[in-house]
Amino acid sequence: MPENAGSAPRPVPPPMPLGEFDLIARYFTRPACRAALGVGDDCALLAMAPGMQLATSCDMLVEARHFLPTVAPQHLGHKALAVNLSDLAACGARPLAFNLALALPRVDEAWLEGFSRGLFALADAYGCELIGGDTTQGPLNICITVFGEVPQGQALLRSGARAGDDVYVSGTLGDARLALEVFRGTVALEREAFAAARLAMEQPQPRVALGIALRGVAHSAIDISDGLLGDIGHVLQRSGVGAALDVDAVPRSAVLAGQPLAVQRECTLAGGDDYELLFTAPPVRADAVRAAALQARVAVTRIGRIEMDTGLRLRDGEGRDVAQVFRGFDHFRA
Ligand code: ADP
Ligand code: MG
Repeated sequence: MPENAGSAPRPVPPPMPLGEFDLIARYFTRPACRAALGVGDDCALLAMAPGMQLATSCDMLVEARHFLPTVAPQHLGHKALAVNLSDLAACGARPLAFNLALALPRVDEAWLEGFSRGLFALADAYGCELIGGDTTQGPLNICITVFGEVPQGQALLRSGARAGDDVYVSGTLGDARLALEVFRGTVALEREAFAAARLAMEQPQPRVALGIALRGVAHSAIDISDGLLGDIGHVLQRSGVGAALDVDAVPRSAVLAGQPLAVQRECTLAGGDDYELLFTAPPVRADAVRAAALQARVAVTRIGRIEMDTGLRLRDGEGRDVAQVFRGFDHFRA
């Protein structure tokens, strides 16, 4: 018979929340594969292959700013890494490894389980391993630094666009913004259409294979994170050129194409969160661009031309001027 039979049951103390180091060990530590040394020491060690340059980039995700509190943790894990891989893609770099800095309001194991699952699923798909990070208590904030490799001198840059280049984008643009508008209540979509748009918003696919295939083909590239017009503006400025775009040629999903034209234009031109590649290549390399797209299994669409005259000129499919009333996202001007 148990000792305390008959007396009031002794209260079971609540389980101790996982500590910082147990949390790292349980959710963010896996054996190093490519890295010479992974999680657990003061630094990780990565050996670079001869002839390769290290490409590195860092992107932070802040709740309410970059994602809605309603997002499933596994989708957040995916997206936090996807937006960083997208930067490597834009440079034509192959992903190697990443660091993860996390501020968490509390230890929520269900959240950590989902987040790490989404994160590692994408990491594994690209052979990109988690080699370190930092973990602290605070308002939810996720900051990833990625490391990739690109053969010396072959990185795709924003500054390489030349007059006469064709301007291309991969995939379709605008769905992430369309989903955001549904959350904001300004657009209504059928259930399936919303699910498709939401997928684009919460689980973007970084165009890593395309970026790599465009090495030596594209003159310039950028990933579209703040809206097409804002991001092409960066390419034009860094390259000292201008461009003419056919706004009706910008590829969009069937769901978005079913919306009023003003919504289509706002979403495709100023949407943001697309994580498609925008790149330029000379017309003589059009076949090589098509081959790269085939190899990467992603559609690419020509949407305009780089011109000597600086500035951006927008036309519709009939060649009529379109007033430029949109601008790219700017955190301090939004
Ligand atoms: P230090 O104090 O030396 O910076 P920490 O005590 O913060 O190291 O972290 C211990 C180890 O765990 C380090 O190797 C660090 O890179 C790793 N680490 C911390 N947080 C994370 C995380 N969220 N994901 C992966 N590794 C992490
Ligand atoms: Mg630390």
